[in-house]
Amino acid sequence: MIDEPTVFISHSSTCSDPGCGCAATRDAAVRLVEQADCRSILDVHELRIGEDWHQRLLEELSESRACIALLSPHALVSDHVFEELLLAKILSNLTGSTFRVLPVLVGGATRTQLKDSRLAKLRLDMKHMPQWTAPKPAPLDLIEVLEGLHTTPPGFPAPVVHDTVAYHLRPLDAEILRRAATLLSLAGPQWPPALPRTVAFGLLQERLLESSPDPLRLALKQLLRRVSMDGRSEVIDRVVPYARVPAEAGEQMRAVAARPSRRLAVLKTSDDRIPDFYLRRASTGDEPWVALRPSGAKPVVGEVRELLHQMLSNGIPPADDAELDRLIRRHEEEEGPIVVLLWQAPDQDLVTRLSAAFPRLSVIFVTEDGDAVPDAVSLRALTETQERALVRLHEELRGKFVRPGPR
Ligand SMILES: [Zn+2]
Repeated sequence: MIDEPTVFISHSSTCSDPGCGCAATRDAAVRLVEQADCRSILDVHELRIGEDWHQRLLEELSESRACIALLSPHALVSDHVFEELLLAKILSNLTGSTFRVLPVLVGGATRTQLKDSRLAKLRLDMKHMPQWTAPKPAPLDLIEVLEGLHTTPPGFPAPVVHDTVAYHLRPLDAEILRRAATLLSLAGPQWPPALPRTVAFGLLQERLLESSPDPLRLALKQLLRRVSMDGRSEVIDRVVPYARVPAEAGEQMRAVAARPSRRLAVLKTSDDRIPDFYLRRASTGDEPWVALRPSGAKPVVGEVRELLHQMLSNGIPPADDAELDRLIRRHEEEEGPIVVLLWQAPDQDLVTRLSAAFPRLSVIFVTEDGDAVPDAVSLRALTETQERALVRLHEELRGKFVRPGPR
C-alpha cells in the first residue's frame, strides 16, 4: 500500500503578460515533481464555472503530502490560490508541519507584493521563499523537500483511517463540525472545506483519560446523530480504539508483525474485550487485523492449522505447507497480519512449536500478570480505569447510535 507521495501545485493561469513565465514554471514544476517520483496534481480548469470541481480539488489537496505555491503577481490576487493555500496552511498546522507548504515567487512577484496581498495573512515562511521562473533551474531546497517525501512518514499517521472518518463527516453542516472542533480544542482557522479532515484528526488523537466532561464523548455524541446509519458503526469502531488504546501499542504490534519470525507479544489485561480494540488500533488499513482464537480443547498447533484452513480456504486443506504459506502471505498483503490470541501465560515451548509451524503469524499472549518470554514485546497496557472507560464509551455509543443487529 505504499503509494507515491502526491504533491499539489497551486497556481493561477489567468495571465495576460506573455513575459510572465508562469506557464513555463508550472510545467517545469510538474516535471520536477515527477522526476522526484511523486504524483502531481494541478488545477487545469481554473476558468470553469461551478464549485464542485474546486471542492474536489481541495479534497485532493487534503490527501497530498506537500503543496508547491507558484506565486506569480496574478496568483497573489487569485481567490482559488488563496483558498488552496489556506487549506495547505491548515494541513501544515494539523500535522506539525509534516505537510509541507513550498512557496516560490514567480514571474517578477516580490516579497513586498506578497506582504501587501491577502496571502500575507497566511504567514507563509518568508525565509524559505526562493525566486523561481523557468527556464531557470529549480531551487535546490525544493528538490530536497520533494525527495525527502519518500522517507518521511505521512503527516496523518494512518491516512486511510483519517480518510474513512473524514468521509463520513463530509455531509455534516459546517456549524456542527465547527462545534466539534471547538470541543476537541482544535486551534487554527476553521474553514468549511477543511473541517471534516480537521475534526477527523481531532477524533483520532490519543485520549486515554476520560475527563469530566469528556470532550471526545461529547463531540462523538453530537456528530454521530448526524452521520448516516451506515457510517456510524465505522466511525465508532475506528475512533474509539484510536483514541483510547495507546498509539505506542499500535506501533509495537506493527513492529512485531514486520519481524521475519518470532512475532511475539504479551498483552496484560483481564478483560476479554480488550484485545479486539488493540487489533483495531494496530490496523492502518480498511479492516481490523483478524485473530484466530484457539479454544484450547485440542493441541494448539493443530487447532491453529484448522482455523487457518477455515479462514483462508473455506475449510479445504491446502495441498501443502507452501500453499498455506502463500495464502497467509496473500491475506497479509491484502488485509493485514493474522494474529493468534492465546489467553494463557506465555509458554516458551509452545512459542517454539508455533513459530516453527507458522513463522508469519503474530502470537499475542493475553495474561492478567503480563509475564513475558524472551523476544516477546510487552504491549503498552491500559490501567483498569482506562479499560473501563474504553469499553464503556464503545458500548454506550453503539447502544445509542447503531441499529441492533449482527456485528
Ligand atoms: Zn503569469
